Amino acid sequence: MTKSLYAGFDLGGTELKYGLINSSGQLVFTSQAPTPPSIESLLSLIQEIWGELEQEYPRQIKSVGFGFAGFFSLKQKRIIKSPNYPTLNNFPLFPALKKILPVPFAFHNDANLAAYGEYLYGSGQKAQSLVLLTVGTGLGSGLILEGELWQGQDGFAGELGHITVNPEGLHCNCGNLGCLETEVSAPALVRNYLTFSGKDEDLTARDVYLMAKAGDKAASKSFERCGYFLGIALGIIINLLNPEKIILGGGVMKSGNWLLRPAVTEAKRRSISVSFTTCEIKKASLGNKAGLIGAAAWAKHQLKNLKRT
Ligand SMILES: [Zn+2]
Repeated sequence: MTKSLYAGFDLGGTELKYGLINSSGQLVFTSQAPTPPSIESLLSLIQEIWGELEQEYPRQIKSVGFGFAGFFSLKQKRIIKSPNYPTLNNFPLFPALKKILPVPFAFHNDANLAAYGEYLYGSGQKAQSLVLLTVGTGLGSGLILEGELWQGQDGFAGELGHITVNPEGLHCNCGNLGCLETEVSAPALVRNYLTFSGKDEDLTARDVYLMAKAGDKAASKSFERCGYFLGIALGIIINLLNPEKIILGGGVMKSGNWLLRPAVTEAKRRSISVSFTTCEIKKASLGNKAGLIGAAAWAKHQLKNLKRT
């Protein structure tokens, strides 16, 4: 008997990750390609990948899920705005993908699907409520409430990266000032370091991490400042939702306690203690595969509803 498989695609600003999971959520195949610069080249790449997968696993792939960066409208079935990948802006994705794919498919915001992946198969397993925050180039987030992905009335829920944590802060791509994303992300960490050290160098967040480990005071202060603002956001989340778990992922979380410790200290200071003590704050476990696993699982979960019309 042939096994059923479910494809997932996670489209970021620099790369397209994709893979297949089986019915237990285990990855049976993964790969990646550079993110194509235009919508036409993106669609032809998806078509090409689908052809290869179908050849390798004939008639086994039952559905395809896509996680796209940006504000995804449930009603319009398209990304209304993608600050980090503007070629998606308002493009009618549903009819375009329907032409390419002979199986049911679904898509959503990438961070929402990463939360769904961690909930089903990662650090969030068995939690009825969780919030995922991914700290990387930007700050993505997704919510699971009472065992379901919380989408909001039109799919835009879970944009915690754009809540204000610093009212007098810098401009964000979304148009607001002092968003969580402008204060807690890889570019924010580097910006903090350049401010505290007075240096003018081309650095990465990893460089700042290595300097902090080596005892550089400006580097550790940079993490403390990011952690301070992250903690403010965690306090808001805890007081608002009383969640079972908050899961932190993304490239900057590879720094571990350098960011986590000041964030948890601040969260404790700013939240109701009974809610704080029952909330488990922990690292994500699916790494950069959370998005594609979540995308595949999301489409699989909706398979009965994904009728082709
Ligand atoms: Zn913003």
